[in-house]
Formats: sequence, structure tokens, C-alpha cells
Amino acid sequence: MSHLLITGASQLLTLRGRAPRRGKALSDLGMLRDGALLIRDGLIAAVGARPEIESLPESRSAEKIDVGGRVVLPGVVDSHTHLIHAASRAEEYELKIAGASYEEIARKGGGILNSVKKLRAATADALKRRAHAALREFAAHGTTTLEAKSGYGLDVASELKILRLHKELSAEQALEIVSTFLGAHVVPAEYRRKPRGTEQYIALLTDELIPEVAAEKLAEFCDVFCDRGAFSRKDSKKILEAGKKHGLAPRVHAEQLTRTGATQLAVQLGAASCDHLEQVSKADIRALAESNTVATLLPGCDFHLGLKQYAPARALIDAGAVVALATDYNPGTSPTMSMPMILSLACTQLRMSPAEAIAAATINTAYSLRREKQIGSIETGKQADLAVFDVEDYREIPYYFGVNKCWMTLKKGRPVFQKAHT
Ligand SMILES: [Zn+2]
Repeated sequence: MSHLLITGASQLLTLRGRAPRRGKALSDLGMLRDGALLIRDGLIAAVGARPEIESLPESRSAEKIDVGGRVVLPGVVDSHTHLIHAASRAEEYELKIAGASYEEIARKGGGILNSVKKLRAATADALKRRAHAALREFAAHGTTTLEAKSGYGLDVASELKILRLHKELSAEQALEIVSTFLGAHVVPAEYRRKPRGTEQYIALLTDELIPEVAAEKLAEFCDVFCDRGAFSRKDSKKILEAGKKHGLAPRVHAEQLTRTGATQLAVQLGAASCDHLEQVSKADIRALAESNTVATLLPGCDFHLGLKQYAPARALIDAGAVVALATDYNPGTSPTMSMPMILSLACTQLRMSPAEAIAAATINTAYSLRREKQIGSIETGKQADLAVFDVEDYREIPYYFGVNKCWMTLKKGRPVFQKAHT
């Protein structure tokens, strides 16, 4: 049996108590000053005031880490990423700055289809190398669990290649990867040229790919990009219902570029999460507030695209929706692995308080991945997933931006990142 005692936290943010967090409870961090925790075999054995934890018999023989007056919080949970892709889209970044819209670029063969072309041509080894490098960056910014979507393959072999890589990557490194099938990202080019191509592609998803993904246990969730230029609300319903039938819980890309009604569809289907939400209506906000579907906001997208309309976070929180935050790490609209940067954007652009942003990126994202019993807070019996930031006050985590203040990241009680001494 191995024991690890962690002391010296100026603030220990436990996030203990009810999950998920809504309304006023979102800013409840369950903070302990000079708190400590004892880890046994990768799980949290005890957490509380330092003298109490230090006096436990197991603490005496435990290995010890003194974090030197820094802030300790649960490992960050990033509930929306497109981890596996072949290359950046820096050329489109430059076009966008010059004034081209996301949809104009897509019509010229750029956008998602550009990434699809590159992914199909890439070897599994090259994709894996790139993903490993990204995972090291995620760990270096305090993330201990992340969701990863397929969706740049869009044919049977390439989608399965991505999902199998999620599994291999999970086995080869410490961060936990939660796999989502996003065959319904857009209709691939070869189907766009055919009459009734969209219908045929949807049939490929519902009759062939979804059953195969479920049979091989390659994903827990099924996602759809429901928007102009992607899938309609009606098509999305068909795909998500097929996923549900095979045990894949729905997640939805909703109301990003246009309002399609995807949010209300997500609520009706009992989706785990509904993501983006820049264009939601008042009725959509009400529907989310009355449901257990998590409203996941992705401000990195709006920031990277230079868009002015962010999701109405305040209205969602005040109405009582379960609000969460994620990077949407992807090569086209949000090339970042930094959840601290997302917290900064949540504070300045979404007007969330630092405490709300932290809860939205830990316990609420854990809930959206249906893992709130294992991760997302520092409580007895949970995994010892921790992020330590080189600040004295938790508000300094979003306050600093564009610099990485993460000092140490632990997954199941083991350091997976430690800042080099400077
Ligand atoms: Zn996305």
C-alpha cells in the first residue's frame, strides 16, 4: 500500500458537496485554508485541516509533498476536445484575420473537410505522436481527464482508426480519455456530390458505424454537429436516437453559428451535454435550467475566431442551468490545450466569477462526462486527481493569462507534470 501526504496548500479547493453545481452553488469551492490530504493507492483517503490529517497514523509513514503555500484544486476536467487531428490550420487563421468567415472558408474546401483530407492521409503513428504531444500540454496546464471526439475521419476506416487511438492513448499515458463518436461532424465531400448523399451518409452512421462503435466499445457518447452547413435538427435526432439505442449517450454541438433548436432536442433526448450555445433563446435557457443536460460553454472558439457574441453565461447560471467550461481543442476554431486560458476568458468575456469558472471546469465537467462520483472534487474515496497552481489565491488562476502558472499535476496520486525549477 502506498501513501502520499500533501500539505502546504495556502488554499485547498475541495469542491465537496452536491454535484452538479447550479446557480449560487456554482461559486461554492469548499475551500480549506492550510488544508491537507492523504492519498492511499491513488485514492483520496482523508482531507481536512492540516493538524488533523498529519496526526493520522498512516500519515507518519507516508511519502510527503509540501506544496509551499500554493493553491491545490481538483484536476481539471476538459469535457470537449477534438484531440486527434493531423495538422494545424494556420493558413486559414491568416485568411480569417484578413476577413474571410468560417463558413466562407468551409465552402472553399477549408474548414473541417480540410482536416478530414489530412487525417485520412495520415498514419496512425503520426496521429498518435501529435496526440501524445498535446496530452503532455494538457497535463502541463492542470488537466487530468479529457473527453475526445472522432469526426475528422468521416468514413468507416478512418473513424474507427481515431476511436481505436483513443483507447491506445488511454493505455499508454496517464491522463484519462473519455471517447465520443462524432461521425456526424459534417457530411464528407464524397457524399455531397451524390443526390441524396446526406441521407446515405446518415444511413452509414446509423446502420453501420454506430453499431460497430458500440460492439467494439470504442465510445461512451455520440455527438452531432447540429448547425447550418452540418446536420439539421431532424437528422441530428435520427443519429442521436440510433446512438442511444446502442448505449451511446447523446452530446450535441448546439446553437453555435445559428439557432437550430438543437438545445431543446438535446434536452428531450436527455443528452449529457449541449455545447457552444452562443445563439440560444430565452426558451432554450429555460429548457436547460429545468434539465440535467449540461450547458458547456467554449469561449476559446469565439476568442480564436474573433467573434463578439459569446454564450450568455450569466443568464444560464442565473436561470439555474448546469454550466460547464471546456477548451474545444481543435485545429480550426480553438487550438488550445489550456484550461487556465479558458478560465480567463470565462471571467472577462462570459462575466463568470473566478470561483464559478473553477467549479464549471471541475465538478460540472465531471458530471457532464458522468464521472462526478470518481473525479471533479477532492473528497474521500475519489481519485487523487489534483492540480497545483503557483499562486497564493485561487483568483490568480484566471487573473494571469497567456502564462502557465500550473506547478504540478497529479493523476491518481502520481505526478504527471511538474514545473522545472527556475
Ligand atoms: Zn467541438
